[in-house]
Amino acid sequence: MTISAILEQNLSRVNERIAAACARAGRSADAVRLVAVTKSAGVEAIQALFELGVRDFGESRPQQIWDRRAALPEDVRWHLIGHLQTNKVRRTLPMISMVHSVDRASLAESLSAEMVRLDSSRKIPVTLETNVSGEESKQGYAPDQLRAEYSSVLTLPGIEIVGLMTMAPYEEEPENCRSTFRALRELRDELKREYSAGPSLDVLSMGMSNDFEVAIEEGATHVRVGTALFEGLPA
Ligand SMILES: *Cc1c(COP(=O)(O)O)cnc(C)c1O
Repeated sequence: MTISAILEQNLSRVNERIAAACARAGRSADAVRLVAVTKSAGVEAIQALFELGVRDFGESRPQQIWDRRAALPEDVRWHLIGHLQTNKVRRTLPMISMVHSVDRASLAESLSAEMVRLDSSRKIPVTLETNVSGEESKQGYAPDQLRAEYSSVLTLPGIEIVGLMTMAPYEEEPENCRSTFRALRELRDELKREYSAGPSLDVLSMGMSNDFEVAIEEGATHVRVGTALFEGLPA
C-alpha cells in the first residue's frame, strides 16, 4: 500500500471513531476538531495527510515546527502541544495558530508580551494545561494553582484563553481515563461560573489515540491524535 492509502485508511477509521463517540454523546461530529500529532511522522506523511484534507497539525517540540513548516503548505495550522521554553517564544509564535500547553504564568506572560509586540491587534488562542490527574511526571497547573492564578492570567492582553487542556495517564483500559477528563470539564465549568464575565472556555483539548473516544464523551472539542493516524507506515 502507498503512504497515502495507509493514511487514508487510518484517517477514515479515526473519523469513524470520532463520529461514533459524538453520536453516543449526542454531540454533532463537527463539534470535535482532529489535531494530527506529527511528532513521529515525516514530512512526506504530513503532506499526504494534508492532501486528504487535514489542516490542523500538532507538535510537542517547537524545533520540529521550525524545521518542517517550510516544506509544507502555508495553510497548515500548527498547534503547539508540548513544553515551550520561554526563550523559544519569539521564534515560534509567528508560526503557530494556537498553544495548547500553557502550563505556567511565565509562559503566558511571555506569549502575551511577544504577541503584543508582533501584532497588537491580535491575540494568540491558548488553552491552559492542567494536571488534573496529579501525576508527578505531567506538566501543567495543579487545579488549585490554576484557581489561584486564573484571574491574573486573564488580564494579559496578548493571549486569548479559549479553554483547558489535559493529558490523562496511559491506561490499558481507556474507560479509566474518564475521571480525568470529567475533572477537567468540571474545573472548566467552575471557572466559567466564578468568572461569569470572563472567557467562555469553549475548548477542551483532551484525548489521544488510546482514549479520545472517552474524552469526546466527556466533552473534548480538540483531540490530539498521533499513533492512530500514522501507524503502519513503512519505516
Ligand atoms: C504525543 C502526544 C499526543 C498524541 O499521542 P498518540 O498517543 O500518539 O495519539 C497528544 N498530545 C500530546 C501532548 C502529545 O505529546
